[in-house]
Amino acid sequence: MILEDTFKHKGLRNSLVKHLANKGIYDLSVLNSIGTVPRHFFFEKIFIEHAYEDKAFPIGEGQTISQPYTVAFQTQTLEVKKGDKILEIGTGSGYQCCVLLQLGAEVVTIETQKILYEKTKNFLPKIGYQATFLLGDGTLGAHAYAPFDKIIVTAGAPTIPDSLIDQLKIGGVLVIPVGDDKVQKMIKLTRIDDKLIEKEELGIFSFVPLIGENGWK
Ligand code: SAH
Repeated sequence: MILEDTFKHKGLRNSLVKHLANKGIYDLSVLNSIGTVPRHFFFEKIFIEHAYEDKAFPIGEGQTISQPYTVAFQTQTLEVKKGDKILEIGTGSGYQCCVLLQLGAEVVTIETQKILYEKTKNFLPKIGYQATFLLGDGTLGAHAYAPFDKIIVTAGAPTIPDSLIDQLKIGGVLVIPVGDDKVQKMIKLTRIDDKLIEKEELGIFSFVPLIGENGWK
């Protein structure tokens, strides 16, 4: 497969960035990251014209690559700093992971579906992105790599797993969509200290379900 990033793709990406800014994404580093990662690399050739639409898209195994606005919103909410150690739950296509890596974060990403885990683990290094890929149930976090500066959950959870809160550093942020199997509220949790957790609710989104021991059964 030859992966080309042409002027046409860059133009489409710039238009997407403008659209996201008009929709309320204000963090310039996030807009810059979305403007840099070639989203069309994550699409089969026949679907490539959909790569820069602000829509979720099927990636196989009944899963989706999240809508660009959702990726931008979750990333902005995480307040990523260079060198942050981030846990991503739901590797999927790897696009969100690349947006975090492009911001200079170190990413540990976990996926339950073996086919997606293998595909993305092989693909990301080919396009120049390095992360730690884990196969398993992300509702338990990733104990061996904890604690994290940030945790991002890219599937809809029924409740907030304690296991994830426990793996956050002091000052760390967890962004997780919580709700039923159709719509979820975006929740931002900030660990203030050992006991105190600040909670904010940030709008309605729609994700595929988070399945696992501390997720949907
Ligand atoms: N971040 C992805 C979005 C993928 S959709 C992207 O940028 O493409 C959500 C993903 O979460 C799916 O691939 C699904 O298989 C995975 N998932 C669901 N429950 C999970 C769990 N408990 N642990 C890890 N991954 C999970």
